[in-house]
Amino acid sequence: MICVICKTGECFPGTTHFTQMLKEKLVVVKNVKANICQNCGEAYFDSDTVKYIQTKTNEAISNQEDVELFNV
Ligand SMILES: [Zn+2]
Repeated sequence: MICVICKTGECFPGTTHFTQMLKEKLVVVKNVKANICQNCGEAYFDSDTVKYIQTKTNEAISNQEDVELFNV
């Protein structure tokens, strides 16, 4: 697929780190499967991966840590 952000890059399967600020905490989910644009680096997640990210993010919130790191 062609990247919708830069409209020139092609996306290939790979892994990335998903980072999000949530309630003044940094949540990092490491080694997440994604389709990644070879030009600008934008990552696209499928619905299963989004669910996985949400689960890990909720765990991070309940753990009350400033930074949480996760491995797949
Ligand atoms: Zn792109």
